[in-house]
Amino acid sequence: MSSSRAELRRFVVVRARGCCEYCLSQARYSTHSFAIEHIVPKHRGGKTEANNLALSCQGCNNHKHTKVKARDPLTRKLTPLFHPRRQK
Ligand SMILES: [Zn+2]
Repeated sequence: MSSSRAELRRFVVVRARGCCEYCLSQARYSTHSFAIEHIVPKHRGGKTEANNLALSCQGCNNHKHTKVKARDPLTRKLTPLFHPRRQK
């Protein structure tokens, strides 16, 4: 990892305060390392820049994978997934 990538990773971890930006679990209590994930996946044009990166636990990262939308279990409508930079 180049130093700029390491700095970007550090920035994302500090901004997230060490918590998964989807489920808010804390990295320090996890037995698995957290990932820096692309909110908009690279194959959909997402860039490797701070506004498109989120700290994610393995569970959230595995569920989200490359999706940006999923079926709402109640309405069955295709719904955008939570976006940590645009939603609270
Ligand atoms: Zn999570």
